[in-house]
Amino acid sequence: MTDYQHILLAVDFSEQAHYVAEKARSLANQYQAKLSIVHVLDNIPMPDTSYGTVIPLDQDSQDKLLEVEKAKLMSQGDQLNVDFSNRWLLWGIPKQEIIHIAEQEKVDLIVVGSHGRHGLALLLGSTANSVLHYAKCDVLAVRLRDN
Ligand code: AMP
Repeated sequence: MTDYQHILLAVDFSEQAHYVAEKARSLANQYQAKLSIVHVLDNIPMPDTSYGTVIPLDQDSQDKLLEVEKAKLMSQGDQLNVDFSNRWLLWGIPKQEIIHIAEQEKVDLIVVGSHGRHGLALLLGSTANSVLHYAKCDVLAVRLRDN
């Protein structure tokens, strides 16, 4: 197996996200790889979706949300010693944006949690599942359990 050179951690700030972050940090150290982090804001205004109505955020709420999420990303980046230029805060659909930034930045390993904010109902959460299916590089899904 060749060494990984650029690892991307997809962080959703859920309760167990620190386990996923630790794994990414440890792999980056082991391979002396560049470490990037991405968080995708998926709370975008979409009034009439197939799964119901999502209440659009006004500009003020959007700005506040952005500030809060940016602060979390910065704190996570500081903890992991990630360069500022490798901290990505994006709007959109998590699975799409994670794959997009991985391709753009020539990432060779994406690290996700097996589950995130959407609970442990499935064997693999939907974001993790899609990233595994569609990413062109390796993907590590860190197994998270409810205990
Ligand atoms: P899920 O499929 O939503 O249960 O989440 C599984 C994993 O996908 C999480 O542990 C994160 O690593 C990643 N993920 C989910 N949502 C996001 C998000 N909004 N931004 C970045 N990564 C995410």
